[in-house]
Amino acid sequence: MCGIVGYIGAKKALPILLNCLGKLEYRGYDSCGVAVSAGDLQVYKDMVRVKALAKVVPPMSGTIGIGHTRWATHGEPSAANAHPHCDCAGRIAVVHNGTINNFLKLREMLAAEGHTLASQTDTEVIPHLIEKYYDGDFARAVERALKDLEGAYTMIALMAGESRLVAARQDSPLIIGIGDRENFFASDVPALLDYTSRVMYLEDGDIAMVTADSVKLRNGGSSIAREEHKISWSVEDAQKAGYEHFMLKEIHEQPKVIRDTLAGYISAAEPVANLAGAGGLADTLILASGTSYHAGLVGKTIIENLARVPVRVELASEFIYNGQASSRNNAIVITQSGETLDALKAIKKLKEEGCRVVTITNVVGSTATRVADQTIYTRAGPEISVAATKTFLAQLVALYWLALPYARVDISRLDSLVEDLRRLPVKVQQVLDNESLIAGHAKRLAEYENIFYIGRGINYPVALEGALKLKEISYIHAEGYASGELKHGPYALLGSRAPVVAVVARDNTYDPIIISLKEIKARKSPVLALVSENDETIKDLVDSVITIPDVDPLFSPVVNAVALQLLAYYVARERGCPIDFPRNLAKTLTVE
Ligand code: GLU
Repeated sequence: MCGIVGYIGAKKALPILLNCLGKLEYRGYDSCGVAVSAGDLQVYKDMVRVKALAKVVPPMSGTIGIGHTRWATHGEPSAANAHPHCDCAGRIAVVHNGTINNFLKLREMLAAEGHTLASQTDTEVIPHLIEKYYDGDFARAVERALKDLEGAYTMIALMAGESRLVAARQDSPLIIGIGDRENFFASDVPALLDYTSRVMYLEDGDIAMVTADSVKLRNGGSSIAREEHKISWSVEDAQKAGYEHFMLKEIHEQPKVIRDTLAGYISAAEPVANLAGAGGLADTLILASGTSYHAGLVGKTIIENLARVPVRVELASEFIYNGQASSRNNAIVITQSGETLDALKAIKKLKEEGCRVVTITNVVGSTATRVADQTIYTRAGPEISVAATKTFLAQLVALYWLALPYARVDISRLDSLVEDLRRLPVKVQQVLDNESLIAGHAKRLAEYENIFYIGRGINYPVALEGALKLKEISYIHAEGYASGELKHGPYALLGSRAPVVAVVARDNTYDPIIISLKEIKARKSPVLALVSENDETIKDLVDSVITIPDVDPLFSPVVNAVALQLLAYYVARERGCPIDFPRNLAKTLTVE
């Protein structure tokens, strides 16, 4: 992970770097640092957040610089391991996103040649290699150094006295922002929106040599060009808009996200259904990680229910080592950022095995969109909070839209499903209007240290997602279970200190869930149930309820997920947690 930035122009680099880094902190926040060139290099880094660094960093007058916010992979979070890393002479500085697999061998080689490395990171070999190969041509030295690296090495290098930045992209994102006699680098678009909306997405193997008024690109030894894109997101879209946290803002944006995502499909020249390919949805294999995996599990039930074909869902990180695909498989890879390394590796493997790959992603121009055969975009806008919310809902919408044309149901059922889908924003708004009641329940849950979430059928993945949301932002240990499975072991943990959050839908799982709830109550766990309007039966069985607007059971994951997002948010807020930037996490996992 990590966020990397660069600036080259006529303005002072430092404030620009710090501003951009602040926007990239969701990618990592173990430590941060900057290097600015004003003839000599000035480097300042520490194990603090960007705001704290900004208060203590000494004045720097240079107009060329690089910056980094770290998510440690090699070496603990510390000032010494923070980036930028430098060569022996302190004339070359590098910020890096990724992991260098052969760094031990390179360290030994460099040490034997007299280089002194001061950190535990893999990154530090890069500036030393550039130093080793430097013969008067900075760009050539970088290009030569890159040849020695194995692994993921998206990086930006700065050299004292040079009027250009040299960067490379390999296996994690890097964007060039084009300004008026100034240019920028960043790991993602929102970091640059204060300065420019003109961007170029670099591809794997690209090396960029950038001055204040020129961008030169090379790949595989030849000069190349990359298309310039105009970004339509506003700065406002990427800011908090008065909410206390990005997560709350993003939860509240969901009615709009559903509308925008659907509108994109309705107005598309080519129906999304065609994306599933000639074979329809038969033999569909869905791969994803984390929250996207939970969307995939809901997608499995949606497709199986509507198209009546079996669907397989696997974790991308498992599939890349142990998975089996056949060329008959239509594969759907879901990745919010389009940059998750596990998802990208899964796409690579699927393609090698002859599968047709459709990716569902939120980020236009991301790597997944370039390596997959086709892309279904979710139109959630930038999601800054590390815990995914609105992109999950948008992924569900994409999966409904994908499955509906294959529905083996009569036309009146199909019409009513499409109508319900269009009405989902209103239903989600009703859940949001219930916010203060949900916050009240959260206050009580915040006292516990272990919480079970249960659901069944299409709401089983919602229970998994609810538990994931809670643990990632509140640090409460939470487990999601299929309600029928709790009796196969976890009942041993039930009792007055182990509350259960139950997602109850009015579908064929209703009666068995009632049985589970009775069993759970007999074991004295407090139960909070998500129930549909007018459900008096469950109210009498459990301790408290959150009422969810009535929707077709097929769409119940959407409304239930929103209620569980709010619940997790308010529990974390009650516990005073850093909601948008939970400890040890990062938004886009570009490492294994
Ligand atoms: N491997 C580098 C470090 O540990 C960069 C980590 C990353 O990109 O997440 O500092």
